[in-house]
Amino acid sequence: MTKKKITIVGNGFASLFFISYLLPLSVFPFFTAFFRRLYSSYDITVIGNGRFTYFPAIPEFITGKRTRTDITVDIHPFLWRRNIHFVDAQVTDIQDAGRTVLTTDGVYTNDALFLGIGPAFTIDSIPGTREHTFSPCDGPGAIEAFLYKLGGLSDGVIYIGFKLNKRDGFVAGRGGQMYECACLLDYALREKGLREKFEIHLFSPDIKPGATGAITDVLLERGIILNYGFEPKEFVDGGMLAPDGTFHKADLVLFTPGISAPDWIRHTCLPVSKGGHIDVNRYGCVKGLENVFAAGDCSNHEDPPSWVPHQAHMAQLRSNAAAKNMRQVLGGKNPTHTYRFELSCILNMENDALWLHAASDDKPPFWGIFPRHSRKLIRVKNMFERLYLFYLRHL
Ligand SMILES: Cc1cc2nc3c(=O)[nH]c(=O)nc-3n(C[C@H](O)[C@H](O)[C@H](O)COP(=O)(O)OP(=O)(O)OC[C@H]3O[C@@H](n4cnc5c(N)ncnc54)[C@H](O)[C@@H]3O)c2cc1C
Repeated sequence: MTKKKITIVGNGFASLFFISYLLPLSVFPFFTAFFRRLYSSYDITVIGNGRFTYFPAIPEFITGKRTRTDITVDIHPFLWRRNIHFVDAQVTDIQDAGRTVLTTDGVYTNDALFLGIGPAFTIDSIPGTREHTFSPCDGPGAIEAFLYKLGGLSDGVIYIGFKLNKRDGFVAGRGGQMYECACLLDYALREKGLREKFEIHLFSPDIKPGATGAITDVLLERGIILNYGFEPKEFVDGGMLAPDGTFHKADLVLFTPGISAPDWIRHTCLPVSKGGHIDVNRYGCVKGLENVFAAGDCSNHEDPPSWVPHQAHMAQLRSNAAAKNMRQVLGGKNPTHTYRFELSCILNMENDALWLHAASDDKPPFWGIFPRHSRKLIRVKNMFERLYLFYLRHL
């Protein structure tokens, strides 16, 4: 019997979780690789850049607790242990209702396709973003450049902000991460005895002026100036222009725009949602196409609660359902698996931590065994990171 050919695009959280849930076993220590070669019901190809980045640890570059090497994993061994082919290329087009994938290194056909191509940032929504701001969401290089420039300042004004894309009815953006960056920057400057020399501002057009809550409290405790409701008209050299044209001085701006899917999908056969994501249904199936699935930051949700964000954690829940559904459709059945909506994120402030949480079924994280506000949560966050990176590197 010929094996079904599965193509997976991307090697980030969504794709690697998808692989874990698609295969009959989720762990493959090196000595089991031989058995996987004998027993494999699918012929799987991953197309990507071969480097996994653990984004949730990027804010910790600010305190010097993480480096590029700590959070980057060469995923070739992970794929080799699972007998999965790897193509080091960028996908440029998808044709034939998903059956043909065009890349910078040739054309690949499949019986089923999974897309985990991650986010693109709506960088043109505020002019000057590309030239005058840094974003932790662009990966280690961008946060290193921000810190390099910070290292050259003995005093100054730093703006940290985010914008969200809510056009698909959920939170496509990185709010929590920017709060974390603001709190860690406050901590790092205090450690160096420089905090009183710097103003730190937190701005976002998506938070109402006067908003209150646990996050606002921790920002205010740290002397961070809140510019809720503020959207610069333009970022310019040395600062930004407010909507009325007033100049606001900023020596450094750390800013992340809203999220949609990468632009190149717009000239493919993939349907695009009104918010610019790959349009999928509650089973993770790309609408109108057979045997094509998507999960993670590139795709929207069907009927989401308005608070659900793009997160690695949501990518995991969605990839789990998509993997089960792909097995079903390849076996001639209809997809039946859906997923829960859950926001779950530990906000690390180095001297304190908050567990931010909301779930569609109101279940607390980990049966409520962890406190919701405690510095000890930093150890829990570090443990998740260590376990996942160990899994990718060795199992
Ligand atoms: C600073 C920061 C902190 C965060 N903190 C948290 C947190 O605490 N908790 C949490 O749950 N989430 C957190 N997130 C969010 C989380 O990292 C993302 O939601 C997650 O990475 C999404 O996974 P993904 O697979 O969709 O995208 P990615 O992980 O970005 O993976 C996308 C993959 O697609 C590949 N790709 C893209 N285009 C192509 C193409 N054309 N051809 C081939 N391959 C392509 C990329 O190379 C990459 O391998 C954080 C994000 C950031 C930036």
